[in-house]
Amino acid sequence: MKKILLLMALIPSITLAQRDWSNIEIEVTELAPGLHHLFVANAVSVVTFHGIDGTLVIDAAYEQSAEALMDKIMNLTDQPVKYLINTHLHADHTGGNKVIGRDADIIAHPSVKEYLSQEQRRGDNIIPAFPEYALPDILVEDNMDLEFNSERIQITHLPGGHTGGDLIIYFPGANVAVIGDLLFAGFFPFVDTNNGGHPVHFMENVERIINLFPEDATFVGGHGPVFNHNDLQNWHNQLAKTFVVVREAKDRGLSVEEMKNQRILQNWEEMGSFFITEDRWIETLYPFL
Ligand SMILES: [Zn+2]
Repeated sequence: MKKILLLMALIPSITLAQRDWSNIEIEVTELAPGLHHLFVANAVSVVTFHGIDGTLVIDAAYEQSAEALMDKIMNLTDQPVKYLINTHLHADHTGGNKVIGRDADIIAHPSVKEYLSQEQRRGDNIIPAFPEYALPDILVEDNMDLEFNSERIQITHLPGGHTGGDLIIYFPGANVAVIGDLLFAGFFPFVDTNNGGHPVHFMENVERIINLFPEDATFVGGHGPVFNHNDLQNWHNQLAKTFVVVREAKDRGLSVEEMKNQRILQNWEEMGSFFITEDRWIETLYPFL
């Protein structure tokens, strides 16, 4: 059992290392005129918005996919990238900053700039600090409106959910909310408790998003398919149930190991992914309930 768990924990880095970066699939879907969802390597979301003022891009995906992503964006429009917004600090959202953000103003929460300005260690890997041109230029501590391509784009910081520096972006004309990794559509989410995330605040922030936007809004998460209001509410409801199950088990005195062995979250089996398994979701919740 231990061996299997250890293998699962290693899968994301192995997958990334072994991925064939010479052939990167990027699926493009139009959300509204000029507004596109680009699903990079069947894994991570990027959103582009182009028009007379230029192109705005939300998230830059991986460093390894950045050139292919830039080519794809330039297939959609000749308008240069004026703004790049990083929804949060993780490498699958900021890795492409050096290419996508090269000639653009990069917008992010101050903690993203702080993180990317420093050398990062991941296991044996050392990721050097980002060069100045790939670092955020415009820092959003609370919220900011951006008039661009005849839209009044609303950028809002929701603290302490997925990370400490999460931004959500709303396009009122198109009625589309891009909410980064506050949405792992259909799956247990990753909550980065080492970088300011907290599972209880994660749920509060998702609830806030549900109440903040109209019933017919479209939600683009960092991972998984595009959701409508109902999908988002159902996902939140299912996650809320897993909180109750883990809290009750903890109240009965069960350890994390016992919860895993008894598979207390078996009913939510289909929400497990190679990344956040049932077991890892129990480990995430336990210390906070
Ligand atoms: Zn993330």
